[in-house]
Amino acid sequence: MNIHEYQAKDVLKGFGVPVGNGLPALSVDEAVKAAETLGGPVWVVKAQIHAGGRGKAGGVKVVKSIDDVRTEATRILGSTLVTHQTGPEGKEVHRLYIEEGSAIARELYLSALVDRDTSRVAFICSTEGGMDIEDVAAKTPEKIQTLIIDPVTGVMPHHGRRIAKALGLEGALVKQCVAMITKLYAAFTEKDMSMLEINPLVVTADDQLLCLDAKVNFDSNALYRHKDIVELRDFTEEDPMEIEASNYDLSYVKLDGEIGCMVNGAGLAMATMDIIKLYGSEPANFLDVGGGATTEKVTAAFKIILNDPNVKGILVNIFGGIMRCDIIAEGVIAAVKELGVTVPLVVRLEGTNVAEGKKIMADSGLAIIPADDLGDAAKKVVAAVKGA
Ligand code: GDP
Ligand code: MN
Repeated sequence: MNIHEYQAKDVLKGFGVPVGNGLPALSVDEAVKAAETLGGPVWVVKAQIHAGGRGKAGGVKVVKSIDDVRTEATRILGSTLVTHQTGPEGKEVHRLYIEEGSAIARELYLSALVDRDTSRVAFICSTEGGMDIEDVAAKTPEKIQTLIIDPVTGVMPHHGRRIAKALGLEGALVKQCVAMITKLYAAFTEKDMSMLEINPLVVTADDQLLCLDAKVNFDSNALYRHKDIVELRDFTEEDPMEIEASNYDLSYVKLDGEIGCMVNGAGLAMATMDIIKLYGSEPANFLDVGGGATTEKVTAAFKIILNDPNVKGILVNIFGGIMRCDIIAEGVIAAVKELGVTVPLVVRLEGTNVAEGKKIMADSGLAIIPADDLGDAAKKVVAAVKGA
C-alpha cells in the first residue's frame, strides 16, 4: 500500500526523523490558509499523488508570496500530472501539501528496502540526489552504495557512519546521519514498510539534515497490524477494479493483454499467464480467486475481467481441491447468465467432482468452450481470440 508524501512525513516525524513543517490542503483556500499558518517567507506547493517525478512535471513549486501560493495551488489542484511514474494518462491532483521552504546546500539520495537477494533490509544511498536515481543507476552505478543490515544486530552506529561517509558528510552532520539512520530503520521495521525513499535528503544552508521528500510503501500482508496506516489509504489513487477485487478478497492485477484469466492459486495463475504467452497472446490480468471461491466471488471476478475493454476472451482455469468443480461450474454459469458474457469463454476444470462440473457446463446450453488441460485451454482461447 502506498501513501502520500505528507502522510509519509508525518509517520517519519513520529519516529523523530527531521522533516519540514507543512500542512495538507484539499482546496485553494485551504492551501492559502496553510501558507498563512506556516508563515513563510518561502513556501513549497506540492502536488500529492502516488507517483514520483512531480518536480519535473510542474507539480512542485517554490514560491515567495501568498498570492503565488494561491496561483500555484489553483493551477496544480485538479490538473493532471504526467510523470515518468504515472504512465501517459497521468494522475489528477486532488490534494496539495504546503511546506515551508528550505534553503538547500546539497541534495542527496537515501532509501531503504527489503533486498530480495539477501532477505534483509538494505539502505541505498548516493550523493546524486534530487534527480532520477534510475538515471544514476544506469549511467554511474558506482555513485550508488548499498548497505545490508543484519536483522540480529539491527542498525548500528557504524552503519550510520558508513552512510555518512558515502554521502560525503562531515562533522556534526555525521552525528545527525547516524541518528537519522537509526530512526529510519525503526520506522521501516516497526511499520512493516517494504520501501522508504527520501529523494532528496538535503543538507540545508545551516547544516541540518532534512527529508525533503518521502515515499513509502507498506507490505500489504502486514497491514492487519497497522490500523493507523490503513486509515491513510487514499482510494482515489488506486485502480477502481483493484479496489473492487480487494473487497471480494481477490488478488487482481491489471495487465495490458487481451485474455482475461480467472484462476485459483497464485502459482496456477502465473502458469496460466505463461502458457497464454507461449501460445502467442498476452494476459489481460492476473486474478487469483483463492481457495474458497463462492458464486459471489466468481461473479465479482467476471465483472472485474469484463470491465476491461481490452479483454477479447476469457480463460477460466480452476483446480478443484477443497473447492469442488461442480460448485465452480455453477458459479461460472450463474455469472455468465447474470452478466451476459459476449467474448469467447474457455473453461478448464480439474480435480474434485470434475465430471459433474463438466456435465453441468455442457448441459447449461451456454457457449462455454470446455478444455481438458492447461495447454489445450490456452490454445483454444488464443485461437478463439485470434479468430482462427
Ligand atoms: P518529486 O519530483 O516528485 O520527487 O518531488 P520532490 O519532493 O523530490 O521535489 C522535487 C524538487 O523540488 C526537489 O528535488 C528540490 O530540488 C525542489 N524542492 C522541494 N522542496 C524545496 C524547498 O523547500 N526549497 C527548494 N529550494 N527547493 C525545493
Ligand atoms: Mn523526490
